Formats: sequence, structure tokens, C-alpha cells
Amino acid sequence: MTSKILKLLNKKAIVTGGTRGIGRAIVKELASNGCNVVFTYFSSDTAAQELEKELSTDSVKVFGFKADASSFASAEETVKFAQEKLGGVDILVNNAGITKDTLLLRMSEADFDAVINSNLKSVFNYTKAVLKPMIGQRYGKIVNISSVVGIIGNPGQANYVASKAGVIGFTKSNAKELASRNINVNAVAPGFISTDMTEKLNDQQREAILSNVPLKRLGLPEDVAKTVLFLAGPDSDYITGQVLTVDGGMVM
Ligand code: NAP
Repeated sequence: MTSKILKLLNKKAIVTGGTRGIGRAIVKELASNGCNVVFTYFSSDTAAQELEKELSTDSVKVFGFKADASSFASAEETVKFAQEKLGGVDILVNNAGITKDTLLLRMSEADFDAVINSNLKSVFNYTKAVLKPMIGQRYGKIVNISSVVGIIGNPGQANYVASKAGVIGFTKSNAKELASRNINVNAVAPGFISTDMTEKLNDQQREAILSNVPLKRLGLPEDVAKTVLFLAGPDSDYITGQVLTVDGGMVM
């Protein structure tokens, strides 16, 4: 019998937005590789408790922490919680995100601010909060979840696309700034992944998307989670400042 190699044995991670979709798959992938995880969530205490229960074992600790990712103070509280419960932070995955899609003509200031705060400012909040501990230990892996639309643009998503393009710029600047401290910063840009976020698509929109996907299927949250595992683990030690698309070949 061959035993599984645990790529993140005894590592400690924070994942934002971990109760559903891609974030949930990331929490599972990290935990099943021996990583202790604090995941944040915004609304469902029940979903968080169930995930904690499902993934916690004698050797892996998994805790949910209710925290609005757009709040700077909450990010600091999350890191404090992770330090108390896990003893530190080696890995940060900035995953939490929302959409408020509409054409620019109809987009309100509130729609713009909400998306920028949840998707971009959140990445600043959590990166700032983990910086001192990561610099102190001279080790860190930061993985930011962007989107292919942050590279190619998309009508009806100006707020979302601006936030995701911002995440790419933020990732590259931080990669250059933090490389000398042995902190790798990379982004993952998913294409269309089957989650609650893409549930709203009608059949016509789905067909139109698939006609541009060479691999002819929507992605699964696990497709993204495996890429995050690679960027959070030792196999990517010589990779920083990159944007890895996980999109079935849509953007190349
Ligand atoms: P989802 O199914 O809607 O789940 C979003 C997750 O983020 C939930 O766990 C939610 O928590 C959490 N969240 C949202 N706002 C938050 C906040 N302010 N504070 C803390 N948690 C918050 O979305 P998804 O499809 O998995 O997307 C995950 C990430 O991938 C997002 O950044 C998204 O932009 C990106 N992405 C997704 C796709 C796609 O096709 N699905 C494509 C490209 C990029 P609650 O449930 O507690 O509200």
C-alpha cells in the first residue's frame, strides 16, 4: 500500500471565504495535505461549523472564523485568532469575493465600492495583517484568487474586473517587494467554475462561454484548489509574481 505524500504537513494557513465554492475546496485540499487551517466566512455559522467538524482530525486542526474580509480590523483579528489556535501563519489564500454585475450606465457607487472592498481591499487587509509574522519567520506563501476577466475584461462587470485586475497588480508588486524575505506571492485566475457565483448563468450564457473553452467544460472548484496547493507548497518555491490561469484554455 502506498501512503499519500502530505505536501503541507504541519503548515498553518488562513483562507478567506472558506464555506462555499472554490474557498471550501481549497480548505479541503490544504487540510487533506496535512495543513492546519483557519478559514473565514461572512454569513453561515452552520456551514462553518459543519466544515470544521468534517475536516478536523487528531492531526489536523480546522477552525472557522466569522470575519468580513473588507474590514481591516477583522483581518487583524483573524491573524490573531490563527496565531492563538494554530501557532502562526505560513500560508495566506485570499479567496473571498463577490459580484454585483450590471452595465456601467446602471452601476451605482455602492455596487462599485462593495465589490472593490470585498475583492481588492480585502487582499490588502489580509496581506498587511500577515506581513509582520511572515517577515519575522522569513517564510510565507501568499496566493490571491483573481479571475481571467481581470486579464481580458468583461462587459457588465467593470467593478469586478477592476477588482481582479487590481489583485494581479497588487500580487506582482508584493512579489517584488517580498522576495528578499522568502515570501512568494502568486495569483490564480480561474475561468468559469461551477459554484454559486456562476449558478446565475442561463443556458444561453453557458453555451456562449463553453464555445470559448477548448476543454469544453466549466471548471470544478477542485481544479482551482489543486493549483492553490501547488502555489502554497514546496513544489513552487522558485515561482513568484505569476498569474496561473485555470480556465480550460480559454485565455492563452
Ligand atoms: P461563492 O461560491 O459565491 O463563495 C464566495 C465565498 O466568499 C463564500 O464562502 C462567502 O462567504 C465568502 N465571502 C464573500 N464575501 C465575503 C466577505 N466580505 N468576507 C468574508 N467572506 C466573504 O464564490 P466562488 O465562485 O467560490 O468564488 C471564490 C473566489 O473565486 C472569488 O474571489 C471569485 O471572484 C473567484 N472566481 C470565481 C470564479 C467562478 O467562476 N466561480 C471565476 C473566477 C474567479 P459566505 O457564504 O459566508 O457569504
